[in-house]
Amino acid sequence: MKAIRRFTVRTVLPESIRPLSRLANNLRWSWNKPTEQLFAELNPQAWDSVNHDPVKLLGSLTREEIQQIAEDTELVERIQALDAQLDTYLTEPQWYQQTQRADAPKSIAYFSAEYGITSVLPQYSGGLGILAGDHLKTASDMGVPIVGVGLLYQHGYFKQSLSRDAWQLEDYPVLDPDGLPLSLLREEDGAPARVELPLPDGRRLLAQIWRADVGRVPLLLLDSNIADNDDHARNITDRLYGGGGDHRLQQELLLGMGGVRALRTFSRLTGAPEPEVFHCNEGHAGFLGIERISELMSAEEGRKPLSWEEALTAVRAATVFTTHTPVPAGIDRFEKDQIYRFFSAGLAPGVPAEKILALGDENYPGGDSSKFNMAVMGLRLAQRANGVARLHGKVSREMFAGLWPGFEFDEVPIGSVTNGVHVPSWIDPRIEALAVDRSQPSLESRWRAINSIDDARLWRIRRELRDTLVQDVRARLRTSWKKRGAADAELAWTDSVLDPNVLTIGFARRVPTYKRLTLMLRDPQRLKRLLLDPQRPVQLVVAGKSHPADEMGKQMVRDLVKFTDDPEVRHRIVFLPNYDIAMARTLFPGCDVWLNNPLRPLEACGTSGMKAAINGGLNLSVLDGWWDEMYDGQNGWAIPTADNRATAEERDNIEAAALYELIEDHVAPRFYGEKIANGGDQVPHQWLAMVKHTLSTLGPKVSAKRMIEDYVTGLYVPAALAGRTVAEEEHAQAREASRWAARVHESWGAVHVEHVEAADVAEVPQIGDTLQVTAYVHLGNLRPEDVTVEIGYGRVSESDHIHERQFSELDEHRGTEAGKWAFAGSITIDRSGPFGYTVRVLPHHESLTNRAELGLVASA
Ligand SMILES: *Cc1c(COP(=O)(O)O)cnc(C)c1O
Repeated sequence: MKAIRRFTVRTVLPESIRPLSRLANNLRWSWNKPTEQLFAELNPQAWDSVNHDPVKLLGSLTREEIQQIAEDTELVERIQALDAQLDTYLTEPQWYQQTQRADAPKSIAYFSAEYGITSVLPQYSGGLGILAGDHLKTASDMGVPIVGVGLLYQHGYFKQSLSRDAWQLEDYPVLDPDGLPLSLLREEDGAPARVELPLPDGRRLLAQIWRADVGRVPLLLLDSNIADNDDHARNITDRLYGGGGDHRLQQELLLGMGGVRALRTFSRLTGAPEPEVFHCNEGHAGFLGIERISELMSAEEGRKPLSWEEALTAVRAATVFTTHTPVPAGIDRFEKDQIYRFFSAGLAPGVPAEKILALGDENYPGGDSSKFNMAVMGLRLAQRANGVARLHGKVSREMFAGLWPGFEFDEVPIGSVTNGVHVPSWIDPRIEALAVDRSQPSLESRWRAINSIDDARLWRIRRELRDTLVQDVRARLRTSWKKRGAADAELAWTDSVLDPNVLTIGFARRVPTYKRLTLMLRDPQRLKRLLLDPQRPVQLVVAGKSHPADEMGKQMVRDLVKFTDDPEVRHRIVFLPNYDIAMARTLFPGCDVWLNNPLRPLEACGTSGMKAAINGGLNLSVLDGWWDEMYDGQNGWAIPTADNRATAEERDNIEAAALYELIEDHVAPRFYGEKIANGGDQVPHQWLAMVKHTLSTLGPKVSAKRMIEDYVTGLYVPAALAGRTVAEEEHAQAREASRWAARVHESWGAVHVEHVEAADVAEVPQIGDTLQVTAYVHLGNLRPEDVTVEIGYGRVSESDHIHERQFSELDEHRGTEAGKWAFAGSITIDRSGPFGYTVRVLPHHESLTNRAELGLVASA
């Protein structure tokens, strides 16, 4: 029978166990083991059949079961105790309240197109979403007042399965928001709160606002699937990264502009403080800046409207932008015409369309000026910007240097904050139990005493984790083969796939080309030999989804699955379909080695290796992303890079050969060597020394706590202070600074260094000699206080390029004739060998955070 109507019946719980509903609806259960355990025990069978989803579990309980729970005094006490603990967790002062000044921001808005928080809210595709989820969870643990903003996708991201002949199949299950841990934001009269965006041709896009609670952090998710929308508008939030062109653009307009409106509505309805800082996590949400500019340019509530330049100055001061990819194809770009068409419909009334277009203009060498680039807009709308690992910061500075012409790469104002992982979400309880030093306040610092842990015990636990993975792999493989059409009778072999005593290497991630899923297949015979080595065998667990539109990625998945289907090796290498958070939580702890072989430097950070590390896994990786800065020679292995090679083919060959060699000569002997040699206690002490070293030294560094501290102290607090300063007294500083900037831009053409004089140094200068420099500078209409004149000096190469540059201001000035000034100062020659210097003029103003900020410089 088919139902003609459907609705979700909410479970009504008796008073004594009512807190169960709150415990299920606040996502903190997903990283609070006692709460998760409680749900699991309520009905272990039902818990498995609802895929460990507390809201669904409560919905599945019968009246009798509910009654039974309510009468079980021990359970009731446990529920109430956990509820009380949740209260404490939500209200107690945490790191932020204890360490930050009273004027630290009261609210920070965090925008992201995807969030990976738990498998019951599948609103993520990969690392970006998982990172955003870990960001919110850690902010909650540390008491950082963040509000998240995103979209609620009706189908989330696709579920992956395999066809008989090894092709990726994609399935988009429908999510019913009423069955998810979400509540609808409502107006005082009970009607759902909504935001509305005008669209071309007189159409409109409405969205309602769902709220998820991630511990203390509210996450607002916009949902266009409402009856008052036309069919097209209803489908805007259908899938994560589904559809291109206008569809994607409307998703991003809703996320950015609708997101700001949702925040305003949220504050109005709940009394939550207005955000003082806006963090744009990757370019998708960049339109949030346009919405805020539009707010400031309108004349609401008797406020004096700001001009475009003034509003831009004010918005930039309080915005942080994080770029996540050095792969150009990973950045969203639209046609400028398209952007113009949408904004002509009145999306940002009063904001000149050509100004908006200019923000995303690729008007630099190598750019395409018909395109509108979301990352470029993100950078232009944020006074503070960062990449996600040290190396990625450097790569981003080079990649976006065209936005700051005339400056050296290392002066481009993009810093870096290395990503981290939310340890309570990703650490296995059996490893966590080893963090013995209970006198230490945080999990991260408890690892210091790791060396006192008995090797035999640690080895036993590592084996248990491997065994848990092996069991999980067998079950998943069987399910997958049944979907692929195999009968039970054909599948007996899946019960003995993998071996809990064999060195286990994991490789799981999205499958864009640069991650080289199939590098390990470069020499199939050699890989087979490694897998089947009679003394030191290796087993491989591989997983990964390819974006549905990426044919190359899908072909790679197929090549890999084909290889794993071979009866000769299928007990030693498996491909698990549908890589997701649930799989990951067993996979990371169960692998001895975590493999990563991207094309350096295209992996911005990568976080899966961090999740392996906090469980005692050793990394075997190309020196890219986080590994480039954290590999220390004892916590794993570095796969050498052949980026000097002309062809991709050659490079793959060399790097694959290096990978095989490392496994054969270093990794496997370390894992098995002593056991074979000593025949003694069967415990590989040298291996475990590396595991302990990894836990104790990487543990604190890869923790998202370190990342959140970096964001708060390095970016959020300074952005809030700058945002406040520009906004004071009806935006007096924004007005003054933008007037000043306009004047500087207008006059800059006339600024130049006429000539530079140095008082004679000795014929053969020596270390310690002083060099007196006077620069004669033409400033046109500008005044000396509008500029900084500085001498840049250091060692020079044969081509006169200055290396290891230092700068020193020429801070004494006097007028010479109209518009001309002499700037003088001195430097001390502090090194021997070839030495050189030059002089340049830069704009100077208190509102600038960086010398390159205006993109203006006049060099001698
Ligand atoms: C950690 C994680 C990722 C991201 O891993 P990378 O190393 O950045 O590729 C993707 N998917 C899942 C399910 C994860 O847990």
